[in-house]
Amino acid sequence: MPLRKKHSLSIILLAAALLAAGCGESSNRTNNATAPDAANQPSANVTEPAPANGNTAANANEGTSGDTPVNQPANNGTNNTPEANAPAAEEPSPEPAPEPEPQPVTKLYKMNKVYSFVPIDKAATSNKVVLLTFDDGPKEDEMLSSMLDTLDKHKAKAIFFVNGYRVKEHPELLKKIADRGQTIGNHSWDHINLKKESQASVQKQVGDVQKIVKDVVGTEPVFFRPPFGLGSDYVKKLVREHGMLYMTWSNGSLDWDSSTKNKPDKVIANVLDQLHPGVNILMHELPWTAEALDELLTKLESKGYGFIDPATIDLGLDEKPQKTAK
Ligand SMILES: [Zn+2]
Repeated sequence: MPLRKKHSLSIILLAAALLAAGCGESSNRTNNATAPDAANQPSANVTEPAPANGNTAANANEGTSGDTPVNQPANNGTNNTPEANAPAAEEPSPEPAPEPEPQPVTKLYKMNKVYSFVPIDKAATSNKVVLLTFDDGPKEDEMLSSMLDTLDKHKAKAIFFVNGYRVKEHPELLKKIADRGQTIGNHSWDHINLKKESQASVQKQVGDVQKIVKDVVGTEPVFFRPPFGLGSDYVKKLVREHGMLYMTWSNGSLDWDSSTKNKPDKVIANVLDQLHPGVNILMHELPWTAEALDELLTKLESKGYGFIDPATIDLGLDEKPQKTAK
């Protein structure tokens, strides 16, 4: 019996061992399968190493997906391209950029019927200002440069009403006026009395200056002054159709008159004699005016006057949307 018992015991043990082995195998398999998790989990449970493992895991993933990285960059690449395209598609947003051009400066002044300027908002804007204008150029570099320097010195802006035939002779001077931040106005091509001209001639006198100025500096004038201050209803209508504000002046320096020739002090006195808030001062590109300019501007400033930036002038053309510029 003891033998039998031993035998049966050994059989039972053997069977148990086999079972255990089987379990072991299966448990090993599961262990293997879950080995990474198990390995991570324990360490993940360990508080501090966890981050390290997390990092390594992340790195390992990136590393092991060494193949995927190749794809990923590719994906990133394609992702980037769409993104790059998207901004490119969004480039219409740069369209707002052109917007500043039409309205770069707040309009502060409007012209009245006697060609002087008044604040649009009298409460917010001082009326103690003048508009500086210089006609009949561009003539000569040294004289013009001196005037531009003086304007810069006083941080003053002006309109240079130019003649087309002079622009044709000295396009570089026209460009200099624009490059120095000053405003160019149209003063007809030949400096003739437009009142006596045919409509066809007026069209050419006005239109050809618009064209040459645009060709040289990129934009057309928005201010027009007829030679000798002589216009007609047709001239005014045509000028408006070109999108320009028609003006003569309200303060003549008489610098063109023989009484003032070579007399800078007279230029200054003439302007100061007619000084009122908002006056539109007519001067010319002349040596004695260039010479008078620094002292004139200093005296105007000492009397509390500022200088109108032509860009702040409301052209008052809004009510006429039908701009048939041709
Ligand atoms: Zn003139």
